[in-house]
Amino acid sequence: RFELAKAKRSPSKLRCPIICIMGHVDTGKTKILDNIRRTNVQDGEAGGITQQIGATFIPKESLLERTAQLNKGEWDLRVPGLLVIDTPGHESFTNLRSRGSSLCDLAILVVDIMHGLEPQTIESLNMLRSRKTPFVIALNKIDRMYDWTENTNFPTQETLSLQKDHARREFQDRYDKIVIEFAEQGLNVAKYWENPDPRTFINIIPTSAITGEGMPDILQTLVDLCQNRMNERIQYVPAVQCTVLEVKMIEGLGTSVDVILINGKLKEGQTIVVAGLEGAITTQIRALLTPQPMREMRVKGSYIHHKEIEGAQGIKIVATGLEKAVAGTSLLVLDPEDDEMELREEVLSDMKGVLARVDKSGEGVYVQASTLGSLEALLEFLKSDAVKIPVAGIAIGPVNKRDVMGASVMHERKKPEYATILAFDVPVTKEAHAMGEELNVRIFTADIIYHLFDQFTAYMEKVKADKREAASQHVNFPCILQIMPNCVFNKRDPIVVGVDIVKGVARVGTQICIPSQGYIDIGKIASMELNHKEVKKATAGQSVAMKIEPRTPSESSRLYGRHFDHKDQLVSRMTRESIDMLKESFREELTKDDWRLVVALKTQYEKATGETI
Ligand code: GDP
Repeated sequence: RFELAKAKRSPSKLRCPIICIMGHVDTGKTKILDNIRRTNVQDGEAGGITQQIGATFIPKESLLERTAQLNKGEWDLRVPGLLVIDTPGHESFTNLRSRGSSLCDLAILVVDIMHGLEPQTIESLNMLRSRKTPFVIALNKIDRMYDWTENTNFPTQETLSLQKDHARREFQDRYDKIVIEFAEQGLNVAKYWENPDPRTFINIIPTSAITGEGMPDILQTLVDLCQNRMNERIQYVPAVQCTVLEVKMIEGLGTSVDVILINGKLKEGQTIVVAGLEGAITTQIRALLTPQPMREMRVKGSYIHHKEIEGAQGIKIVATGLEKAVAGTSLLVLDPEDDEMELREEVLSDMKGVLARVDKSGEGVYVQASTLGSLEALLEFLKSDAVKIPVAGIAIGPVNKRDVMGASVMHERKKPEYATILAFDVPVTKEAHAMGEELNVRIFTADIIYHLFDQFTAYMEKVKADKREAASQHVNFPCILQIMPNCVFNKRDPIVVGVDIVKGVARVGTQICIPSQGYIDIGKIASMELNHKEVKKATAGQSVAMKIEPRTPSESSRLYGRHFDHKDQLVSRMTRESIDMLKESFREELTKDDWRLVVALKTQYEKATGETI
């Protein structure tokens, strides 16, 4: 349906391109947004910059004024302005979709010239690539070059030409390094005024968000990129294209969704269909709201009501039954000629991929996020080879008691490490916190995905280490031992003997038996000394004094000289449980030969006893 409507687009009417700002923490994303928002137009209403729901609108007039020094007034500006999404760097807002494609038409990837590429830069880069979103790179904080001369709001090339040689040289050195770092990520980049081929080289715009240097360049480059290379994408389409940014309760108004209306018109009273976590929601628009003009923003809760409104704009929609709406999905309008079931299916299609990620076994962690986009990013991370953590449940919105109860089931399933909720950018209710403590459910929260990954990875590493520690008390490492006849220090309970490790690894905790005497068990290795020093582990070729402690009455009766002697080889007992533990927790500690010994000991036992391990 939307594809059909696209055919009606008007080449002469361009809509506002939608811009996102991304990058690592502290690179200056917020400062760049602040700078873009700053206006010299005195009267906020006279074509000035306006604050919208979830976005800032920079009108044509303001763009012309801010870039005048750069283009000397000769610039063919055809877009009505730019709509910049307000929450810079927030994954939940940069991974938003609308009808299959990314909500953001264009992105600014911010890199700190002092730090180069950082982990989140690379993450953002990958996200932009996978969404095929065009972007420019702001190489920010150029004013931090030693002895930099500030030229407030100057275009980049002009301010560079006014710098002393050493400042310019430092800039060039840092720039060159960063070009190489991008090349390592498989990306060609170039200063935008030296760009040999804008189709294959990404534009770099050196900026300072503090002094405003390079800000004219950013604005102009963004607009040029839209007009020249994305013209078709930003042609206005009369059909509604709208993305849910956030679901909110407003006192006195009920439930509302903050949306970006990209194309088309919304009208009061229209029936809309949005995706809900428990199915599609059909409801009616009760009110269409936008904030008061800037100077009146302080008047809390006062909005302007609209009968109808046209994209691209950030809008608040009030309607009943939106509590379970999923941020990050499309909002559709149900016209009289439409089939409601079809629309309900369409809004849910964005969520199919996410729902498919939930593990069928029912075992795994719980994942909660503020939007579909951030939920996807989290699931992507958990699925990656380095992590591979199953997910048992997902939710969008605050963490409630019910979620904690869901996660606590993992204790019953003997997977305590999965009794965990990863909560990204969502509040955790007081009751949920209390219940988490009571039921021993860990709740990790963060509003930067990257931080959540770090916390969780550290936690999983600790779980693994603890598991290994616990397992090492019970796991049997593969070994063949030979008693040294003149080194028998105690013949029974405990047996203390000198042994040569013929093959494999002897490790404290390993259960020892004697194949030649019908696999009788004699106890487990309690301690070892190598050259009078206590060791936990000894390997083939080493000789140690070993204490073998009985665990059962029959083991305590095993006597050196009667039940066995130095002519009998001692080997570790192989069991299914122990082999599984070796595989799960000690894979790296064993060599190929050690693994061969595991198989040999197992086969030998099976042949001798007729039992299968
Ligand atoms: P964000 O985490 O990416 O949003 O980064 P912020 O915008 O909060 O900036 C992080 C820090 O860097 C703040 O202390 C800013 O004042 C500072 N900063 C941002 N841009 C610039 C810049 O262009 N030059 C200098 N010198 N400092 C900057």
